[in-house]
Amino acid sequence: ISPIHIIGGGLAGSEAAWQTAQAGVPVILHEMRPVQPTEVHKTTDFAELVCSNSFRSDDAETNAVGLLHEEMRRLDSVIMACADIHKVPAGGALAVDRDGFSAAVTQRLTAHPLIEIRREHVDGLPPADWDNVIVATGPLTSKPLADAIAALTGETSLAFFDAIAPIVHRESINMDIAWYQSRYDKPGPGGTGADYINCPLSKEEYEAFLDAVLAGDKTSFKEFEGTPYFDGCLPIEVMAERGRETLRFGPLKPVGLTNPRNPDVKPHAIVQLRQDNALGTLYNMVGFQTKLKYAEQVRVFRLIPGLENAEFARLGGLHRNTYLNSPVLLDSTLRLKTQPRLRFAGQITGCEGYIESASVGLMTGRFAAAERLGRPVTIPPATTALGALLNHITGGHLVSEDAGPRSFQPMNVNFGLFPPLELAPKGEGGKRLRGSEKALAKKKAMSARALEALEGWKKASAGEHLPA
Ligand code: FAD
Repeated sequence: ISPIHIIGGGLAGSEAAWQTAQAGVPVILHEMRPVQPTEVHKTTDFAELVCSNSFRSDDAETNAVGLLHEEMRRLDSVIMACADIHKVPAGGALAVDRDGFSAAVTQRLTAHPLIEIRREHVDGLPPADWDNVIVATGPLTSKPLADAIAALTGETSLAFFDAIAPIVHRESINMDIAWYQSRYDKPGPGGTGADYINCPLSKEEYEAFLDAVLAGDKTSFKEFEGTPYFDGCLPIEVMAERGRETLRFGPLKPVGLTNPRNPDVKPHAIVQLRQDNALGTLYNMVGFQTKLKYAEQVRVFRLIPGLENAEFARLGGLHRNTYLNSPVLLDSTLRLKTQPRLRFAGQITGCEGYIESASVGLMTGRFAAAERLGRPVTIPPATTALGALLNHITGGHLVSEDAGPRSFQPMNVNFGLFPPLELAPKGEGGKRLRGSEKALAKKKAMSARALEALEGWKKASAGEHLPA
């Protein structure tokens, strides 16, 4: 069996190498450190954690990332195995001794008889005779390779200085105040009207909101200097600083919209949220890209009528990142549509976080191995955490024209990415479920549904990743 080439030995590349090799397919793993360093890595180990030592919640029953941990454990993940051995006390979170963890991953990969390690910089597109490649070079992909991928995909740039807008769970929006309507369209759900949710502000509410935005605590720009702005999208506080009416003539303009509960009174300003995923469970705040600190965003944005109890799937922020416009460029098994020998894994595909990156590595390793062994490649069901994340990356995201050519934004795994699930109105003992009790019951039901579906997929795809 000829080898699969994996570029990058980070969280994703390490997991991909392990999964491929465990399937009986040889791997050549190309890692540029220490020949060529990155801005942030400090060691030569594989799967180095560049910042925090936490893999976040380990609660598989009620937390989407905890569920992802569990799914990966059940699929023989090397990242999870080494994390479990090197865990340190951190309450309900899974935190690790970073040096012990990375050393263990390095040791397992180095000792694997089917993995060959080459410490070299891949400084352009892989040679044509590498017919099955996984690119897992991360948010700090070296410039020559990033430039080559950009040229191949027609992207003007792969590394962005992004100011990204927050995303809200639809369920947490108060629809007694907010309403569905696209600008200049009739109000109400259904049709194009359901693409937007509108929150009205009176003059007093607008003024108070503006003051809070202006006074809010912001992150400094320094560390991002030198990376270009993406699409010239200005942070909301920068617009607010230009004048007290700027936002009312920009993203908060109240024209073409009618509050069905009070059609005769024109709101002074209107915040719009745009449907963000095909499922309609997530909405992004239009024009609300921001460099306000996280806690400030929650406080300030909850001042908006209708968002007083908003739960955020992702907060806005400043971000230096390298990632593909995956919903457009990649197929359902993460191959570049125009050059299917290249498969992508990790943060470069548009997921966010250590464990999400590793999980995409896990999937690509399995897909690539199945392909090499001439077996059908099946993707995990969308009801699993793995499948939900894959769906977000490759297709679940709406690419609407008015959102610009690149509305796809990296995201952590969260229950908003899963297909909705309706609970019976009454829980155990015939008691009617309400509020947080209902939300918790829903998460538990989604997790149980995910693990059952995972077992089905594991069984059905077992032949794919086992040696012939
Ligand atoms: P990486 O883990 O970065 O691995 C990519 C590997 O590819 C590296 O080893 C690199 O040396 C190698 N490489 C790059 N280009 C080439 C090339 N041309 N040839 C050969 N090898 C190459 N996530 C969290 O969950 N928590 C955090 O606290 C956190 N903090 C972060 C802080 C910073 C500054 C950054 C940049 C990211 C942070 N992230 C954090 C995100 C984190 O980087 C990713 O979640 C994760 O490391 C991505 O995994 P990956 O495998 O895609 O990339």
